Amino acid sequence: MAIKLRFWGVRGSVPCPGPNTVKYGGNTACLELRFGEQERLVVMDAGTGIRELAGHVMKTDMPKGPVKTQLFLTHTHWDHIMGFPFFVPIFIPTTELDVYGPVTFEEDTLDKILFGMLTYRYWPVRLEELASKIRYFNLKEGTRDLGEDLWVTTKYLNHPINVLGYRFEYRGKVLCTAYDTEPFRNVFDVPPDSPSYDAEAVKEGEMAAQEENEKVTQFFQGADILIHDAQYTHKEYLAGKIGWGHSSFEHAVNVAHGAGVKKLLLFHHDPDHSDAQLDLLERKIRKAVAGRSEMEVSIAREGMVVEA
Ligand SMILES: [Zn+2]
Ligand SMILES: [Zn+2]
Repeated sequence: MAIKLRFWGVRGSVPCPGPNTVKYGGNTACLELRFGEQERLVVMDAGTGIRELAGHVMKTDMPKGPVKTQLFLTHTHWDHIMGFPFFVPIFIPTTELDVYGPVTFEEDTLDKILFGMLTYRYWPVRLEELASKIRYFNLKEGTRDLGEDLWVTTKYLNHPINVLGYRFEYRGKVLCTAYDTEPFRNVFDVPPDSPSYDAEAVKEGEMAAQEENEKVTQFFQGADILIHDAQYTHKEYLAGKIGWGHSSFEHAVNVAHGAGVKKLLLFHHDPDHSDAQLDLLERKIRKAVAGRSEMEVSIAREGMVVEA
């Protein structure tokens, strides 16, 4: 085992606990990544799932020595950061945490965004109460050496604010994340009878979108594991969700297949998708993929462990 992944939160937008989400879970985005025999810990996103991950880290990592880890944020929408104050190791003086992520506005920094919610207005905990050593790194596209044979490459995806897809490479194995995102589309594609119609612009817009989508597919090329946004069915996507920054199950499967991905995990579930609906979707998708691709496809659920 080179890479081990465990899901602690799989939902998008808002936590949705209740009788309809018992199987897949109601917490928002949080992944635990472990690399190598030493089980080096890297955390992806700080949605509400991070609260339970914190308990796990306190039980399994803390007894072995101080926690020194990295937290990668895909972006800073609420559902991806709202669990941050519940990551208990940040209150322990020996903890060292490096937080990485993209920002959208010139004057933004990650520490300002995260600490913006640590005021009495929103939480009973304030910045001064975090006893650990936390460093912040604003990321753009590029590749970074994280030490001990672990590398990470970042790529901008398509969402209303800057979102980074991540590609972790460790001793020949690759894990990629692609959320929150939707396919790039032609922004000049208006009906021919519209006053702003420009045939040349439509053609250029089409080529630009195609080029961006090809770059994204290239980014996932040969991944052993890909965790991809699948908030909607294709039907739901077409019914008013275009431009919301999320993908359909069908799009995720097509992209992953095109990139030669080995295991695809569909992720960032819509809060309205019940266990029964997700079970049905998984059966449908597996049937559609069987015979067409060697790729394994699963719908991510809390507690699920995937290895490469
Ligand atoms: Zn989200
Ligand atoms: Zn988002």
